[in-house]
Amino acid sequence: MKTDQLLSIPASRFNKGQATEEVLASKVLNHALVHDEEEDYGKLMRVNTEAPFETLIESHLNEERANGMLIKRSMQANIHAAYTQQRIKELEEKLNEVRKDLYKLPDDFNLRKGKRIHPTFRHVLQRSSPAQFNLTRESMDLPEKDRPALEVLVIERLKSPETQPDSRVHHRRPTGLLEDPSYTYQVPERLRIRPRPLIAHLQRVTHIHISDELGPGISGIKQSSIVFLRPFKLLVTYEEQIRQSLLKLEKENHERSIRQEGRAQKEEDEKTFNFEDLLQDLKLLVDFLDGDLRPTFDLREKIRDGTATDIEYHDLWHLFRHGDIVTVESDPSHAYRVVNFGGGREPLVDQLPEDRNLDKQSQPFLDGMMIDCVSIKYDGSNYVPHLDTFSIRSYSGRQPITSLPVYPFRFNEDSVSLKQALIAQGMRYLDVTIPPQSHKHLAGRTLDEPPHDIDAQVIIDTSMALNKVPNWRPQTDKIYKDQLTKGDPRETRIPSYCRHYTTPQGCCGGDVAFKDLQIDALNLNKFFQASPYLMSPRTHIRLAEEDMTLLPDNVHGFVLRNRQWITLRVADLSEARFESVFDELMLPERHKSTIQALVQVHESAVTRTGNCRPTIGNGIDLVRGKGAGLILLLHGEPGKVEYPALAIAANGNRGGKDLNSRVCGGPYETTTFPHHLW
Ligand SMILES: [Zn+2]
Repeated sequence: MKTDQLLSIPASRFNKGQATEEVLASKVLNHALVHDEEEDYGKLMRVNTEAPFETLIESHLNEERANGMLIKRSMQANIHAAYTQQRIKELEEKLNEVRKDLYKLPDDFNLRKGKRIHPTFRHVLQRSSPAQFNLTRESMDLPEKDRPALEVLVIERLKSPETQPDSRVHHRRPTGLLEDPSYTYQVPERLRIRPRPLIAHLQRVTHIHISDELGPGISGIKQSSIVFLRPFKLLVTYEEQIRQSLLKLEKENHERSIRQEGRAQKEEDEKTFNFEDLLQDLKLLVDFLDGDLRPTFDLREKIRDGTATDIEYHDLWHLFRHGDIVTVESDPSHAYRVVNFGGGREPLVDQLPEDRNLDKQSQPFLDGMMIDCVSIKYDGSNYVPHLDTFSIRSYSGRQPITSLPVYPFRFNEDSVSLKQALIAQGMRYLDVTIPPQSHKHLAGRTLDEPPHDIDAQVIIDTSMALNKVPNWRPQTDKIYKDQLTKGDPRETRIPSYCRHYTTPQGCCGGDVAFKDLQIDALNLNKFFQASPYLMSPRTHIRLAEEDMTLLPDNVHGFVLRNRQWITLRVADLSEARFESVFDELMLPERHKSTIQALVQVHESAVTRTGNCRPTIGNGIDLVRGKGAGLILLLHGEPGKVEYPALAIAANGNRGGKDLNSRVCGGPYETTTFPHHLW
């Protein structure tokens, strides 16, 4: 038997079958003996005594790993488990004999395996104030049947004056709590579910992992309960499935009762819980959805339609969805797309025990609700996603959605026309970035520091601009999941009421919070799988209409007049105006007509042959980048030549229409010629 086979035998194997454990144990033992090397006995004893101390485990583990002892230790553990199992079996047999002897029991008597049944709780949905909801040693001493199956922590809130008689806040008033209902309303903050069969049922229905401990408790050990925290991510996400499951269960129950009429009721004996109990508890859960969560469902519906007006901080999770287009207050020049969000809740503990053991720095608390958004920028060859994280600081009461620093675009007062305007802006951005260069007229203020007004011709050439000014380069061209905000597990860690020092969760029957960050992770995964291209570079063909709203309102361009790279607003661009300065050129008329003739000949040759190679002096690139053009050198007296006095040269590449449309001094030249005009 190979070692890796041995190690892959799960411990549960030892529980099954009769003789298997003996066979396995002897095999493992033989193997271990054969491969045994001399071990330092003293050292082994030291490890043995120190192993139970949590703080020493890690160093021992590393030491053993370095010494290559881990496989051997695992085998020893297997042997130990097998022997323990065997000893228990032998003890049970002995005990059976003793009991038979003592109580004169029949020979076929078997020690009844202590069948463990889930405890049942009082089938009520109880609303509790914080003081009632908190677990204490006294409340934990109550018998299980007296503890409510479902318990809601509700916080009383004062209605704001304008909403006091408001029918929108139609809370079903639960009994047993505080003051005058017309001035207050209750917000459910937590839901505690005690019955494990209901948790197991939820796990089956949602396929979401809720708890590892779903078996019946061991008598004498207090079972912890599962607590769902606001915003009740699991329940609102799987509302429909939960309701459906109740209908299904009721139907099953009905059929079961018909079946059982004629038969003796025997099958329940096999179960660890009573079907009726589960059904009653599930009904309570649906009551919770119908009553306490009604306002939340209403809110979610209004958010979907874009008709919600204000929102509480702790409901912000409902406001966003992956892929939403949002408005960002700090940068309204274009829209953003939500790719991830997290936070929005205070951590319940400062540090996780896991962090404590590893002696590592805890990650800083998320300051408010964090929203990761992407916009799109052109990097000279592709349209690449750009990641920004915005946060909404904690606030109390309700706030108008449109006053938030980030909110879904559809809540904008005039969202339809705003969207159209952003799409038009995006189209203009594409217009000037799709061609490698585009020649435009700019009339407006630059966006660089310090800004200045410009009314001149510019060449938009992003690729060249980013080469000249590397600071303008987008930082990444692809966004990975680990760049996004990570949920803080401290939000879902309830300290146990017993205050035992290194408490595992739910110590002494305390609460264990459902780890709802996994729902966010799940949604994020789905989003990444459904639209992976949103996080990667794209060509303009792959930009959808909605993506147009994410494009910037500015580009980088080169001002021909002063040969400067600038950042400018796309909206300030217009078609290049070509004024004829040729006429103003002070040249003898004869020379002028010669120039015109030369250009015409050059141009027609280019148009005819389709190539733009220099006709004379093949390979001579007298003026850099203009080797394919027609080059004329004009002299003038210093101070007499006003720059730019003349646009010149027919460059075959540009395929232009008339002489005056050629502007010399493209972004490719850095040398200026003060007294000569090219
Ligand atoms: Zn404890």
